[in-house]
This record gives sequence, C-alpha cells and structure tokens, in this order.
Amino acid sequence: MDNNALNLKTHKIFEYKGSNYLFISDTASLFEIDEDLKRAIDSENNIFRTRNLNNKDEIINSLDKAGFLKDSFREPDLLGIIEEQDPTALVLMLSQNCNLRCTYCYAGDGEYSNKGFMSKEIAKKAIDYVFMNYDNDRITLILFGGEPLLNIELFEYCIEYGKLKAKETNKSIAFSTTTNATLLNPENSKLIRDNNFTVTISIDGDKETHNKNRFDVNRQGTYDKVVEKINKYLGTRNISARATLTKHNPNIKDIYEHLYKLGFGSIHISPSIEFMDGNAYEELTMHYINLIEEFRKRLNEKDYEYCIKMSNLVSYLQRIHNGGLRRKFCGAYNNMITVDIDGKIYGCHRFVSNPPFYYGKANSDIIIDDKKKNEYIQLMVKNTNSPCQDCWILGLCGGGCPAENLNATGDVTKPHGLTCEHLRQIMPEVIRLYLDLTNEQKDILFRENEGKD
Ligand code: SF4
Ligand code: SF4
Repeated sequence: MDNNALNLKTHKIFEYKGSNYLFISDTASLFEIDEDLKRAIDSENNIFRTRNLNNKDEIINSLDKAGFLKDSFREPDLLGIIEEQDPTALVLMLSQNCNLRCTYCYAGDGEYSNKGFMSKEIAKKAIDYVFMNYDNDRITLILFGGEPLLNIELFEYCIEYGKLKAKETNKSIAFSTTTNATLLNPENSKLIRDNNFTVTISIDGDKETHNKNRFDVNRQGTYDKVVEKINKYLGTRNISARATLTKHNPNIKDIYEHLYKLGFGSIHISPSIEFMDGNAYEELTMHYINLIEEFRKRLNEKDYEYCIKMSNLVSYLQRIHNGGLRRKFCGAYNNMITVDIDGKIYGCHRFVSNPPFYYGKANSDIIIDDKKKNEYIQLMVKNTNSPCQDCWILGLCGGGCPAENLNATGDVTKPHGLTCEHLRQIMPEVIRLYLDLTNEQKDILFRENEGKD
C-alpha cells in the first residue's frame, strides 16, 4: 500500500449548513472537518490519503485518538468487562398467561409456549440468589409476564420478600413492571404506588390503532378500558407508555402525539418487525423524519416537555452526545437475569422457552452454567465477523435486539434488512438534529436522561 495512505474504520461524511462532518461508526464520534481533510478521506475505499496534507502529523494524531485509524486501533477488552458484570435486574416471569390476545404478541398470547404461573418457591430462590450472589448495592426486581397482575398473590409476595432480602443484605431494591393495565384495581394499584414502581403500560396509540391489535379474548378492543383504568388508578404522569407499531398505522408522529396528549411521562415506540413490510417501513421513515422536524420546532419554541418524553429520539441524541463504543445492543445475558415459571434461567424474557438459550435453573437450588452464559454474551457482542461491523451507524444502533434478530433471521447477530434500511435513512437526520442543538438544549435534554443511553 501507498506509504501515504492509512486504513480507516467505517465512517460517514456529511455536509450540513455549509460545513463538513465526519461520523465515526463504532465510537459514535462526530467531528467537523475542513475541505482538505474531506478530500484526503476516500470513503469508498476506507482510505486516508495523507500525501497533500500540511499538518499531517497533527491530523493523524487526532484521528488516531478518535479511534478512526484501523491499523492502530486497539480494541478494549469489552467482552471481559461485560462478562465480569453482575446483573442489576432480576426479571421474574410471574405469569406466562395473559387476559388479552394481541395479534403481534411474540410470546403467543403471553404463554411463551408454556402456560402457567410461577410458584412462591421459585420466586424466593431467585430473589435469594441475586441478593446473596451479586455485588451491586441496588437490585431492580422486574415483575413481568404475560400479564403479571394475573398472579397478584405472587406479585405481592415478591414485593414483601424482596424488601426483606434487601434489608437483610443491606442493599436497596427498586420495583418495575409492565402491564396491559386492564386488570388495575384499587388494591393492586395501591401496591404499585406505595412501592414506587416504575410502570410501563402497553398502549399503541389512538383508539383505532390500539384496537386493531390489542383486544381481549372476545376480540373486543381494549383502548377504552386501558385509558379508563390508568386514569382512575395510576394517572399517566409517572408512567411510561410503550407502543408497538405495525403496518396498520406506521405514522409514528401521530402515535407519539396521541400518547403525549394522554400525558404519559415517557413514550417509547417500536415497530414489530413481523408486522411490517417494505411499504410500511417507507412510510415509517417518512413519518419519523416529520417527527424529527416537529422535535426541532418544539425545541426552538422551548417546549422541552414534548421533546424529553420522546425516548426513541432522545436516546439516539444522547448516544451521539456521549460517544463511546457500542458493541452490544442491550443488557441481555449480562445486566439482567430472567427466571421463567419452571425456574429456567435466561438472559432476557424474549428468550424464554427457547431451549438453546437457557443457562441455568432455579428449582431446589440455583445452578448456573457460567460458561454457557458467557458464550451467549460473546455471541451478542458485535465482533469483526458481525454483518454490523461495516455499518456506519453501529455506534448508534448497537446491532438490533438479539431476540428480534433471531426471530427474523434465525441468528441473534443477523439483523433484519428492512429495519436496518429504515435506521440508516433516519440517522443522518438525527445527526443533523444533534448538530443543531444549542448547549442549553443539550443541558436540558441530557440532564433529564443522565445515565441512560
Ligand atoms: S442492526 Fe442493521 S442498522 Fe444496526 S448496526 Fe447492524 S447492520 Fe447497522
Ligand atoms: S434481547 Fe431484545 S428484548 Fe431482550 S433485553 Fe435485549 S433488546 Fe430487550
């Protein structure tokens, strides 16, 4: 190779408002560059031609520091760090059963191919295990399902036993649950409020959109019931809404605005890959870009509430702001431990009842196969063999939900093409939005989201 040429890592060059910017994929770093530097970067061949640069050494040095030069980049031992982490959250599948029949349910009517309820013994064993064996000072107990409120007796027991265990081990405990809200009543909502639960409600947008997919056993839409129960028992202010978007309504902006008007504290909207198609993704991309425009407009009007609640977009902006390597999409298999109704242990609820992905059991005793667990972590950390490695948005995307990848392509590391195309189309707009943020706006957006990404 030419001595004046260096190999570059995956990147993208943008022009915006008369300036040029370099975005380096896996460190998610963004730099303004001048015309000389832009000319020296051959993006098609991932080569940096230094021959005609004046202050060559200085530039090479700063690009090296930014992790842009392929040959001198030293990959940190991320895998080692991740493997050493103790989980901070215990997910208990209180109920593999649900009172609704949502069309897109990845768990097959909430049953995960294994209908039933968790026993007290299994829940106790799992709670004992995380408090006794993990070093973290704070454990989050996530009461999950199916519909967790169907197993209210165990729901209550887990709160009481979790608090007792936290006291005994001198740790703190936080509670979280995701519910369809239809079973909320004075008693269970009191438990939730009194124990400061972080609550996520599944609601898909306006009545028509929601009722298209989320109905009960009699195929009656549940929108009215959900809204009535939340308003009556919990209020929306401190509650997160999680909407699943399908091809029936890919208008993410309308969905966001409806949930925003209902007053939810935070709103996350995700497409259900299986219930999308090429046209729906095209529409989604267009609506997403409209949403970004609206975000920009509201920011300029100082309507920060509208912006801060949009968790999809704020988390991308936060990643650009923080930079840093992103080699794993989520905390599956390292940050959390999931126990199913039979006491089988998985890295995330989406792998429940998928036999190859289980790595331990919590029956008479807890037995964990650390080797197997670390193999899964290795599999999910993006390495040089991953198809994501050459994708310029890896640092922002992280490679897609491994469970969704598995579902869509049969491989946790292989993402779904249409989703990737959609993400690669919206990310330049997200980066341009970031470039427009003032320091004051960054302070406000990221202060609220400190520690999240
Ligand atoms: S999942 Fe798709 S969009 Fe995300 S980093 Fe991998 S290839 Fe890129
Ligand atoms: S595997 Fe998917 S569902 Fe599970 S924690 Fe990761 S992102 Fe979430």
